[in-house]
Parts: sequence; structure tokens; C-alpha cells
Amino acid sequence: MPDYATHIARRVKELAGSPTVSVMDKARRLRAEGRAVVDLSGGDPDFPTAPNVTEAGIAALNAGFTHYTPSRGIPELLRAIARKLETENGAVYKPAKEILVMPGAKQAIFVAAQALLNPGDEVILFDPCWVSYAPCAELAGAVPVYVPMHAQTTAAELRVDLTAAVTPRTRLVILNSPNNPTGQVWTAEQLQIVADAAQQHDLWVLSDEIYEKLIYDGHRHVSIAALPGMIERTMILNGLSKSHAMTGWRLGYIAGPEPLIEEMLKVHQHSTTCAASFVQKAAVAALEGPQDYTDMMVGRYKARRDALVSSLNAIPGIRCELPQGAFYAWPNIAGTGLTSTQFAERLLDVEAVATTPGNAFGAAGEGYVRLSYANSDEMLADGAARIARFVKSLR
Ligand code: PMP
Ligand code: GLU
Repeated sequence: MPDYATHIARRVKELAGSPTVSVMDKARRLRAEGRAVVDLSGGDPDFPTAPNVTEAGIAALNAGFTHYTPSRGIPELLRAIARKLETENGAVYKPAKEILVMPGAKQAIFVAAQALLNPGDEVILFDPCWVSYAPCAELAGAVPVYVPMHAQTTAAELRVDLTAAVTPRTRLVILNSPNNPTGQVWTAEQLQIVADAAQQHDLWVLSDEIYEKLIYDGHRHVSIAALPGMIERTMILNGLSKSHAMTGWRLGYIAGPEPLIEEMLKVHQHSTTCAASFVQKAAVAALEGPQDYTDMMVGRYKARRDALVSSLNAIPGIRCELPQGAFYAWPNIAGTGLTSTQFAERLLDVEAVATTPGNAFGAAGEGYVRLSYANSDEMLADGAARIARFVKSLR
């Protein structure tokens, strides 16, 4: 019998699976077993994909558009992405040379890390942050270095902490605004601090803007690529999963300086070849068609956010700020006396409410849990009632 334990690559053996994906899978399993699960774990819109987008995908399938496409993506999609980046983000990229279409933004992070990082390089992440940045860096042999960043972090603190984190080995900074899990939207002043550090120390910046459209209360999305001197060292990462409720279609893209994109293209050619053909046609419809469906979703998310946060704040031991963007509530549960992991595990066992423990997003997430409000009003109300009952049972 083969020795399964030892004949596995060490870098993978030492890697943990995705905490967000594993909670989503567990919730799905429990539901399949017949439990009435309220799944507030993963960030997956409950809305169907807009009909015009789905129809464009079906039309492409019916027209026989079912073969390999150019590895970078079909020209009309590359042009649509370039137009979007220029008009909405003030970042001009050449469609044929500076943009790559990928099956999901997550894949683009993986490919960027493979292409840009050497073993031992350091990657600056802001804590708390989404769960897949560090593993993508680590799979390239690089080392994540964390800088704390939360609603109360002042500009002066950010500057000091960021400067302290930079070493001669630092190569890349990954930032995410609006942020998963906190919803925090970076201000132009905060972005300028990162831009200053990147220019001073010659660093790449990967700007994950996947929640760009999901923003509330007049907060404004600014892309760091549009700040003076930054386009030459920034990669904008975005995709249609969240903005167009297209998680299962798997469509993301990355835009950046040609020399970097050329290196990523090699990794992409040797791994996935191209994003799915008919999905790329649907993506053109999503980007070029009417955007009122996205506006409708944002309006609904805002109402759900307000209702959920107010129900959470009515529970003794829980405090929750209003998130500025994305679709996650990030309540502090330290007042219940449980750790993040205990809270999430027991809540799932006792009340069948699936959440993601805050510490999955970094050390700064301890004391928090993440609840996705990309869920129906009924689900959210039921979830909040179950959480209230659960917390009451602890006393
Ligand atoms: N970035 C962030 C911050 C995310 O939350 C997600 C969630 N899936 C992704 C990137 C990747 O999205 P996708 O691969 O579905 O495009
Ligand atoms: N991005 C979503 C989340 O954070 C989906 C799961 C994942 O890709 O991590 O829950």
C-alpha cells in the first residue's frame, strides 16, 4: 500500500483548506441530511444571474461557441473590461496586452502569486482579510506579513505599521476595498499611504476590487491604480461573481502592466488555457448591458444589512458596526464569553446557523464572526432569531 502520508508535497500538506469554502460545504451537507440550516457562511448572492446575462450564455452555447478561446480572453470581452476600467476606475489598460480573463478572481490571485513571487519573498496583507490571499502567497513559497487595519485605524497608525512591515524582501501588497470580511471601504487618504510605500520601496500592489459595486451610504470606491504613478505598479483584480451574481459561472479578470501580464499569461496557458467560452460571451452582456439589476441587488443588500445589524445589536454581548460595503456583517461576539471558533461551531451545532469564525480572516478577527447577508430577508430574520436564542442559552 502506498505511504499516503509522506508522498504528498509538503507545501500542500501544510496548507489548510479554505475555511469559507469548507463551512459552505458543511452547511450544504447538513441541509442535504435534512437539517433546516440557515447558511450565513459564504459570500454567494442568493439572487439569480440577470436574465439578459443568462440568455447571452445560452445563445453562445446554442451558436456552438463551445471551443477554446484565445488564452487571454475573447477580444470583445477584453475591450469591454478595458472600457469599464477606464470609465469607472480611471485606469487605462490596453485590452490586447494588459488584461487577462480567468475562471474566477481567485484563480487570478493564484496565477499572479505564481508569476510574481519567489520563495522567501514577503507579501503584505491587511488583517483581517479574505482567507485565500495568504495560501496563494504560500503556495508560491512567499511569506505573508500582516498589518492591522480596521475602522479605528488612523492614517498615522497605518503609515507607521506599514512602514514597519516593509523589509528588503517585500515584493507585493494585497489590498481589498470594500473589504471582506469587515466591509471597510478604503479612503483616498488611506490608499495614498499604500501608494507612497509602494513607490518608495518599489513594490507591486494587487488591488482586489471585487466588491466595488456593493457599497452603501455614499461611500465611494477609489481604485489605487488611478492615483498618480500607481498604474505602472498596480494590478486591478475584479470579477463578476459578486457584482452580477455570477459566482458559479467563474469569471474574473486581472489588469496590470504588460510585462507582468505576459508572465501571468504563461502560467495561465499551462494551467487553465482560457476561461469558459460561453461564459465570456455572458460576461460581455453583463458588462455592456444595463446595470439596473446590480443597482436592485445593492438596494436589497442595504436593507438587509440595516435589518440584520439592528437585530444583532439588540442581542446582549454582541456589538456590530454598520459595514460600509460588501455583503457581510462582522459582529463582535467577545461579550458572549466564547471565542470565534467556539461561537461558530456551537451556533452551527445547536441552532444550525452557519457562519465563518472571525479568526479565519487573521488574528485581528478573533472575537468576531462573519455573517453573509447575501441571503433572503426571511433567512436573515430566522438566522438573527436563532442567534439571539443561542446567546440567551449561554447565560
Ligand atoms: N476576492 C475576495 C475578497 C472574495 O471575497 C472573493 C470571493 N469569492 C474572491 C476574491 C474570489 O471571487 P471569484 O473567484 O468568485 O471571482
Ligand atoms: N468569497 C466568498 C467568501 O469569502 C466565497 C468563498 C470563497 O471563495 O472564499 O465567503
